Amino acid sequence: MPQRAQINLYNSLTREKTVFTPIDEKDVRLYACGPTVYNFAHIGNARMAVVFDVLTRLLKQIYGDNAVTYVSNITDVDDKIMAAAKETGRRINEITEHYTAIYNADMKALGCKTPDIQPRATTHISDMIELIETLVQRDMAYESDGHVLFNVPEYGDAYGALSGRSREEQVAGSRVEIASYKRDPADFVLWKPSAEDEPGWDSPWGRGRPGWHIECSAMAEKHLKLPFDIHGGGADLKFPHHENEIAQSCGAHDLPPEDFARYWVHNGFVTVEGEKMSKSLGNVTLVHDLLKGKPESYGMVLRIALLSAQYRKPLDWSEQSIHQAEKLYEKIGRAFEKLEGVYPDQEVKDVDESVFAAMCDDLNTPLAFSKLNALLSSISSADSKQMYPILKAILINSLQVLGIEYMGATQKATSVFSGQEGDTDAEIEALVSERTKAKQNKDFARADAIRDELQALHVEVTDTPDGPVWRRM
Ligand SMILES: [Zn+2]
Repeated sequence: MPQRAQINLYNSLTREKTVFTPIDEKDVRLYACGPTVYNFAHIGNARMAVVFDVLTRLLKQIYGDNAVTYVSNITDVDDKIMAAAKETGRRINEITEHYTAIYNADMKALGCKTPDIQPRATTHISDMIELIETLVQRDMAYESDGHVLFNVPEYGDAYGALSGRSREEQVAGSRVEIASYKRDPADFVLWKPSAEDEPGWDSPWGRGRPGWHIECSAMAEKHLKLPFDIHGGGADLKFPHHENEIAQSCGAHDLPPEDFARYWVHNGFVTVEGEKMSKSLGNVTLVHDLLKGKPESYGMVLRIALLSAQYRKPLDWSEQSIHQAEKLYEKIGRAFEKLEGVYPDQEVKDVDESVFAAMCDDLNTPLAFSKLNALLSSISSADSKQMYPILKAILINSLQVLGIEYMGATQKATSVFSGQEGDTDAEIEALVSERTKAKQNKDFARADAIRDELQALHVEVTDTPDGPVWRRM
């Protein structure tokens, strides 16, 4: 058997780039923190999804499809969701189901496969309560004024292992006014009481809801067991979220910090035209808006743009980055045009060697793109027709590792149904399937509301014996 390829991965916990060695190469497990679903995903959320999709594809290429499990959660209980419900007068699960469907549709448009497991916080409350109970029994957590808090000093010096923050920085970093019910300013909430009109679950500490950090600890352990191989997320989650996840999981099971997840992978920030993305600057760029009115293939251009910087580096989103991505996408198109009608050689399973080597070096996507560019140039100048089937196979395999699929030109096709700017097909599909689900659950008010929403988008749905059929009006 040929030797397996090796990935070099930067580990934020050890602060060095090392060869990735899985705990069990027949069962490689990774977890990445998913979105809180109360509004549309922005390109920062999209970068995380695309980076971990690419990492999962590479792991599956090396260890096999069935030997890798990728878990990414949906946070569907959160104060921000409650605030959105109050503001809009919509029910909480209406909001979370709506934005989960849109998130998945948007990420699918960017070429991301749905994670192997996508657990929702609200269906794992008993796992969270169990983990908190263990922490209380071990004196790592205490009840105070209806809250349950994690006691950082009790956990000890291992706190800060990931972020490298000193005690002063930890307290300053929490930026929360020190509540009277905390024994120590660094302590953080595991469980909090819910008012009557707030979502809540019965627990040994009364009706309440979990804090955000405990959600990921409980869901990662439930689906991946400890220790697992890779934990990921945006760099902004390193402190306090990931530091707290380690403290909770290792505190509950008396483990050293490296025995929650062995490798910590953090993707960098996204700026827009050189500026930080923020509501106050009005430059929050939503995937939904970028895809609006565009053909399906445009999602691939955005994917290339999102991967145009190495994942740990900051990514500057600009007209120019999209333009560059478009150029590469068009070049891919010209290669497929040249190889049209050629049947790819089924014997060839190889990915272009230098594209693959770049990906194995801490996911060096900009280098992989430049190697892909070279492959495309060699296809363009190839004149031996005998080579075409091999070249086509290598091209397709190489694109697959990057999650890129050629879907035709990016210029909008004019068809009878696409006379106007509209939402992407994937987003409409998501709304239609959400409506079907609402009808199955006999939530007719919700089903009608979605029909109205679709109508506003100039989409008509007709129910047929084979299921709903939609068309643009
Ligand atoms: Zn998390």
